[in-house]
Amino acid sequence: MSILDRMIIGVMPLVPKPVVGFFSRRYIAGETVDAALEKSRRLTEGHCMVTLDVLGEDIRRREQAVAARDAYLELLTAIAKSGIDGNVSLKPTMFGLDFDADFACEQIRPVVARAHELGTFVRIDMEDATTTDRTLEVYRRIRAEFTNCGVVLQACLRRTIDDAVRLAGMQANVRLCKGIYIEPYAIAWHDRAIIRRNFLYILEILLRGGSYVGIATHDELLVSESMNCVHRLGLAPEQYEFQMLLGVAERLRAVTVDSGHRMRVYVPFGREWHAYSTRRLRENPSMAGTIARDILGLSADRRRR
Ligand SMILES: Cc1cc2nc3c(=O)[nH]c(=O)nc-3n(C[C@H](O)[C@H](O)[C@H](O)COP(=O)(O)OP(=O)(O)OC[C@H]3O[C@@H](n4cnc5c(N)ncnc54)[C@H](O)[C@@H]3O)c2cc1C
Repeated sequence: MSILDRMIIGVMPLVPKPVVGFFSRRYIAGETVDAALEKSRRLTEGHCMVTLDVLGEDIRRREQAVAARDAYLELLTAIAKSGIDGNVSLKPTMFGLDFDADFACEQIRPVVARAHELGTFVRIDMEDATTTDRTLEVYRRIRAEFTNCGVVLQACLRRTIDDAVRLAGMQANVRLCKGIYIEPYAIAWHDRAIIRRNFLYILEILLRGGSYVGIATHDELLVSESMNCVHRLGLAPEQYEFQMLLGVAERLRAVTVDSGHRMRVYVPFGREWHAYSTRRLRENPSMAGTIARDILGLSADRRRR
C-alpha cells in the first residue's frame, strides 16, 4: 500500500458524507431506480449495454435478503418497462449466502425466473475467496434450471484455471475479472504481470470452450490482448462482450465501442452507497489512491487526454 493510499484510508472516516457523495457521484448512479435508469439511458445512447447492481450486500438478517430479492424483482420490471438494453448483477451475500447456500438459492432463483420470463439475464457476482465454492454451487444449481444466468471468475485466484475448465465444459456465461479482494498468497497470485497472463490464459480456455465471456477490465493491455484473442479465434462480436465500471476508463471504453466490440457498463446504485464506498476501500485500500489520482487528473488514462 502506498503512502497516499494509507493517508486516504486514514482520513476517510473524517470525511463528511456529502463530500464522499460528491466524489462517488462519478462511480455510483444515484440512490433510486429512476436515477439508475436515467444514467443507463445515457449510456445506451452511447452504444453501451448496462448491468444494474443494487448496493447493500452487508446484511445481518434473513429479512434483508428477502427485501433484496424483492428489490431486484422490481428492478427487472422497471428495466423491462424502460426498454433499456440492460440486465442485473447481484451479490450472493446480499441474498443470504452467509446464512446458507440453500437459503441464498431460494432468494436468487425467483430473480432468475423473472428475468427468464422477461427475456433478460442475471449475473451472480463473485465476492471474496471464502465464498467462491458456495457461489459456484448456487450458480450450478440455478443454471441446471435456467440458462439466463452467469457467474464471475477472478484471474488472481490460483484455483481459477480449474474452475474455468469446468465452466467452459458447460458453456457457462462467465464474467472474467482480475478480482478486487485482497486474498492470501497461499491461494492467490499477487504479482500484476502474473495476474494479467493468467487472465488471458483463462480467457482463452473459456472462449475455446464455447463460453460467452464478459471481459471485465479497464487495463489497456488486457483490453488490447483480449481484442487480439477474439480476433485470433475468429469470434463474432455477439460471442463475447467487454465490461467496465461506471465512471472508469471512459476514454478506453469509447475506443473499444468505436472498434465494434460490445460493451456493458456496470451501474451500481442505491441508498447504501456510503457504506458500499467505504467498505470497498477497506477491502482494497489501493483503490483509494487510484480513485484519488483519477479525481485529481493524475491517472494514466487522464494524463494522455
Ligand atoms: C464490470 C466489472 C465487474 C466486476 N465484477 C467483479 C466481481 O464480481 N468480483 C470481483 O472480485 N471483482 C469484480 N470486478 C473488479 C475487478 O476484479 C478488478 O478489481 C477491477 O476491474 C480492476 O482491475 P482492472 O482489470 O480494471 O485493472 P487495474 O490495473 O486494476 O485498473 C486499470 C485502471 O482502471 C482504473 N480503475 C480500475 N478499477 C477502478 C475503480 N474501481 N475505480 C476507479 N478506477 C478504477 C484505474 O485508473 C486503473 O489504473 C469487476 C470489474 C468490472 C469492470
